[in-house]
Amino acid sequence: MSGPTVNLDNPALVAPKRLKPLFAPGTDKDQALVIFVLGGPGAGKGTQCANLVRDYGFKHLSAGDLLREEQQRPGSEFGEMIKTYIKEGKIVPMEVTIQLLENAMKATIEENGNRKFLIDGFPRKMDQAIKFEEVVVPSKFTLFFDCPEETMRARLLNRGLTSGRSDDNEESIKKRFVTFVETSMPVVNMFNNEGRVIKVDATKTPEEVYEVVVKEFASKGLEFMQK
Ligand code: UDP
Ligand code: MG
Repeated sequence: MSGPTVNLDNPALVAPKRLKPLFAPGTDKDQALVIFVLGGPGAGKGTQCANLVRDYGFKHLSAGDLLREEQQRPGSEFGEMIKTYIKEGKIVPMEVTIQLLENAMKATIEENGNRKFLIDGFPRKMDQAIKFEEVVVPSKFTLFFDCPEETMRARLLNRGLTSGRSDDNEESIKKRFVTFVETSMPVVNMFNNEGRVIKVDATKTPEEVYEVVVKEFASKGLEFMQK
């Protein structure tokens, strides 16, 4: 596929050139806690993120949701491009996604001071992973939902009955799996080699999976919020 490309001459879109991450660790005022949530399409990232938001007070930022929002924003110059990439299960050029994430983080901090973020479905390509940690903030760790393709396929087809998503159909699902294996798993493997991945078996019920997540978070010093 040769879809539309990003206009790199547009200054709004070139990933910022910074010498230090925006939320550099060590500078108290500017810190942000980021946990990447990865897993194949249909692994259950969104479901588990909702639990974590409820119990730990994270702000949930789904890269896919932010892209779909931008796609629908009237006047967006990236709408058509994003639409094509999503339908094809390909990864939108990182400049767009990183900027959307950074904007959403800044907006959240301004709105209510929350600096704890679950970044769901990102980074799923090596260049995004490296650039985000370089210019925005290094992640604390990656929560990886491990799930066989057959299970994910069944979940996605089921979701497709009601989701209205342009990519929850047989053909797009196949392409998303290929992208996941070829492009996104190398990112998970890199973080894993650095000892920065919590891997959770995602084949069980949402409640059972979440129990494991809570235990793993405790082992990282993350406890439920005071209610
Ligand atoms: N996407 C992308 N870059 C990202 C995250 C998502 O280009 O960093 C696109 C990609 O085409 C992907 C689609 O958005 O297939 C849907 O992503 P989403 O996270 O919503 O899917 P999920 O994994 O939750 O099924
Ligand atoms: Mg999702």
